[in-house]
Amino acid sequence: MKAAVVNQFNQKLEIKEVEKPRIERGEVLVKIEACGVCHTDLHAAHGDWPVKPKLPLIPGHEGVGVVTEVGEGVTNIKVGDRVGIPWLFSACGECEYCLTGRETLCPDQENGGYSVDGAYAEFCKAPANYVAKIPEHVDPVEIAPILCAGVTTYKALKVSEAKPGDWVAIYGIGGLGHVALQYAKAMGFNVIAVDIQDEKLQLAAKLGADITINGMKVNPVEAILERVGGVQASISVAVTKKAFEQAYQSVKRGGTLVVVGLPHDNLPIPIFDTVLNGVTVRGSIVGTRKDMQEALEFAAQGKVKTNIETASLQSINEVFEKMEQGQINGRIVLTL
Ligand SMILES: [Zn+2]
Ligand SMILES: [Zn+2]
Repeated sequence: MKAAVVNQFNQKLEIKEVEKPRIERGEVLVKIEACGVCHTDLHAAHGDWPVKPKLPLIPGHEGVGVVTEVGEGVTNIKVGDRVGIPWLFSACGECEYCLTGRETLCPDQENGGYSVDGAYAEFCKAPANYVAKIPEHVDPVEIAPILCAGVTTYKALKVSEAKPGDWVAIYGIGGLGHVALQYAKAMGFNVIAVDIQDEKLQLAAKLGADITINGMKVNPVEAILERVGGVQASISVAVTKKAFEQAYQSVKRGGTLVVVGLPHDNLPIPIFDTVLNGVTVRGSIVGTRKDMQEALEFAAQGKVKTNIETASLQSINEVFEKMEQGQINGRIVLTL
């Protein structure tokens, strides 16, 4: 089968023929139709993070496809079902986190397109218990980004503890942010979109943001304090330290900063303000299988739509270049 392979960090991916995966007990084989390109895939290809991915690696954790084979013992999935290959590829099912509905914190989890091969390929195998069941009557290409961008932002909003009617700021209107603001609207929040590119803010306004702020033109913290007195929750999906600092400073007393994006930097947090204002700072990583079902359902009902462009698997290196230059408005989905 054809696949895009990371052979070495910081080198171009190689499009080549590799052996089709052979499924074992409890696994399914999925013929991939589409796979979204997440910023994490770029970090994986660069070996940017403290925990390195396996090499050689087939990236991709927004894969959607149709099951063509099921292994022994599989009862929940049948041939012909459409499923998704997510970041939470598998978890142990036994640890304190798995047992308490926090499987995204499982120390023994595998991650699709990182610790195991993902969906930048014609076929991908995955454990039947952890693949996402894709709702019927949805476009596989349009739904692909929900598998990471969707569930990640939906979960971040859930853990922000904002209530309907509260103001929420989304810092960074890229692949995640443009989805985040739609979930925020669908969940009944008032939404402020902050970015440094007008084009992205225009998209945000089109998708329902109540206020848009260009952080290059005005100080977003001052603008937010002046217009709404601070937000109950800030969700930072940006890739710069400055955006995280501003997201923190935009939160009103008793509010929450949810940290989602993964720049290299540390986040300097003022202890005095955090204590006196009772601010919560919380990390949030993807979502559980239940969060995934909910996130997919929002999209299937048409409440959340991804802004996508399609590209071929062969053009992945050009897609990565565009991503590095911040030239993607929404998400690029590879079609196979
Ligand atoms: Zn991702
Ligand atoms: Zn576990």
